[in-house]
Order: sequence, then C-alpha cells, then structure tokens
Amino acid sequence: MTNAMELYQLLPKTNCKECGKTSCMAFAVALLARELTVDACPPLKNEPKFKENYEKLKERVSPAEGATETGLIVHEELCFGCGNCVVACPVNVANDPYGVGSGNAPKDEKKLILSIEDGIVRAKNVDECRRFGKNKILCTGCIVTCPVEAIEFVV
Ligand code: SF4
Ligand code: SF4
Ligand code: SF4
Repeated sequence: MTNAMELYQLLPKTNCKECGKTSCMAFAVALLARELTVDACPPLKNEPKFKENYEKLKERVSPAEGATETGLIVHEELCFGCGNCVVACPVNVANDPYGVGSGNAPKDEKKLILSIEDGIVRAKNVDECRRFGKNKILCTGCIVTCPVEAIEFVV
C-alpha cells in the first residue's frame, strides 16, 4: 500500500503552499486521505518538468478496479464467510451492538458496512467506514481479523 512518504517523493518538494497546505508533506498526507486530488498542486499539474511524476501520482492515488470509495477490495475467491471482519468492524459494532446472532435487530442497518450474504462478505454503506472522508483514520479492524487476507485497502 502506498504511504505518504512515497507520495511526497513524487511532489515538487518546494513547499510553495499554492495547494493551500503548509508543505508538500502535508499535501501528501491529504492526498493519501483523499482530501485533495493530485490536480490541486498547480506546479505539478502545469510544469512540464513534473509531467512524469504527475502521471505516476495519478496512477498511485487512483483506486484499483473493483475498489470502493474507501479503496476497499474484497477478494471473494479467498473469503469463506467466517464473519470475523463483520464482528470486528467498530462501525458494525456501534450499529449492531449485540451482533447478528442475538435476535436483536441492528440499531441502524443503513450504517452497517460489512455483512455476510450467500456465504461471502459484502461491503455496503462504505461512506460510514472510518477510512472514508476528511477525518478518516487508518482503521485495520477488518483486515487484521481476516485469517486469509481477503480484505485489502488500496489507495
Ligand atoms: S502546491 Fe505542490 S509544490 Fe506547492 S506546497 Fe503544495 S504540494 Fe508542494
Ligand atoms: S476499515 Fe474499519 S471501519 Fe472500515 S470496514 Fe474495516 S473495520 Fe470497518
Ligand atoms: S474475516 Fe475474511 S474470510 Fe472471514 S468473512 Fe471477513 S473477509 Fe471473509
């Protein structure tokens, strides 16, 4: 997975602040958080000498095919529907505190992110994921609890 330092290495590194950030490193962090896009750096976008890095960055921060807005990919061929990720996801827990096996309905089904359907995990309501949006955090609840690495986040 791409990290902020790798993105920073491809930026002009002049800290000119034209993007509204205080430094190129701050811009790299915002890129990683999807708070800004590559095009928000005018020198990178407009100056021919940065063209190659511009193209590389565009490629790096584009979600891979099949990824949701959060970059979430479920490798369905690996998932065997154990449900570990479903019960580990803090957003699921907050909205379905007793779990699906309890007989109690979720507090808000529209906020559940992960569920098992037809023996495979499905992701919905991904804008509720802690990795989504301006205040995102790099939650790993679903990744670390999957025994077969069927959940991946790509930038
Ligand atoms: S506009 Fe580009 S070069 Fe200037 S600080 Fe922002 S990221 Fe760095
Ligand atoms: S990253 Fe966190 S909030 Fe998002 S689906 Fe996984 S466990 Fe849930
Ligand atoms: S923890 Fe992994 S194998 Fe289990 S349901 Fe989730 S994605 Fe599938």
